[in-house]
Amino acid sequence: MELPIYSPLERVYTDVFVEKGLELWLKRDDMIHPLISGNKWRKLKYILKSATDQHKKHLVTFGGAYSNHLLATAAAAAKFGFQSIGWVRGEVVDNQTLFLCRLHGMQLRFISRAGYKDKKSIFIEHHGNDAEAFFIDEGGSGIDGARGCSEIVDEFDQEFDHVFCACGTGTTAAGIINGIAAKKLSTEFHGVPVLKNGEFMRQEIAQYLHQPYAFHLHMDYHFGGYAKAQPELLQFVQKFVQQTGVLIEPVYTGKMLYALSDLASQNYFARGSKLLAIHTGGLFGLFGFQHQFPM
Ligand SMILES: *Cc1c(COP(=O)(O)O)cnc(C)c1O
Repeated sequence: MELPIYSPLERVYTDVFVEKGLELWLKRDDMIHPLISGNKWRKLKYILKSATDQHKKHLVTFGGAYSNHLLATAAAAAKFGFQSIGWVRGEVVDNQTLFLCRLHGMQLRFISRAGYKDKKSIFIEHHGNDAEAFFIDEGGSGIDGARGCSEIVDEFDQEFDHVFCACGTGTTAAGIINGIAAKKLSTEFHGVPVLKNGEFMRQEIAQYLHQPYAFHLHMDYHFGGYAKAQPELLQFVQKFVQQTGVLIEPVYTGKMLYALSDLASQNYFARGSKLLAIHTGGLFGLFGFQHQFPM
């Protein structure tokens, strides 16, 4: 079970980084696959390997109505010969993401926000009798997920002073930190939680680390909470896309790159620093914001 990894390191030039004498590079994990995108393939790689090793055929997973993880799982299931069932949080809705999930054969089931809280119970109640059913946690979080993400670091072909990544569950961050620690790089890791009250993220990340490791979290760039945006963020996304030709979205990479740019403008980084931002993909998230952009 392999996807050929195409994820180049690409340097981009936007005004604040040029002004401050900083190099900004992107790790283009968004280019790995249009739907099994970015960190979602990194996380699914060893999860699907575990499923295969245990002779499981039915992937059961969970997400919100715009979940990049649901879509990635639907597409990966179709590609690698699994059936897939997606539990969607909240009332019955339809949108472009769920349409693409169904197009790939994912069976969608909706569950109230209250019922959604206990995913293991949902699995046991509805799939407990299916010996071929395989539980995949929301967002592909967990040890197997982190293992795949640590491979991002193996693909660095130069040394960076700082690496930035958006954090939802913290699994991707943990994997990258494990990769940095294993290679004994001096690179500092920075996570940008995209949810409100991101303090819990420190523990979420720490639980997947192979050894204690110091890392930075920047808590002030959630813009009101998960999948929330403000005009300032949307303007930033629009300007970044127009200045670089690299598509980003407001839920994850937009907030992370906003944080990076804001810190750069406050002279947080020493002149000449090499900064790397992980482009974790998830571009279909843009469709949730189509009518909020100031165009
Ligand atoms: C899911 C997702 C994340 C969050 O990754 P975690 O491992 O859950 O922290 C970041 N960026 C994008 C684009 C995503 O789709």
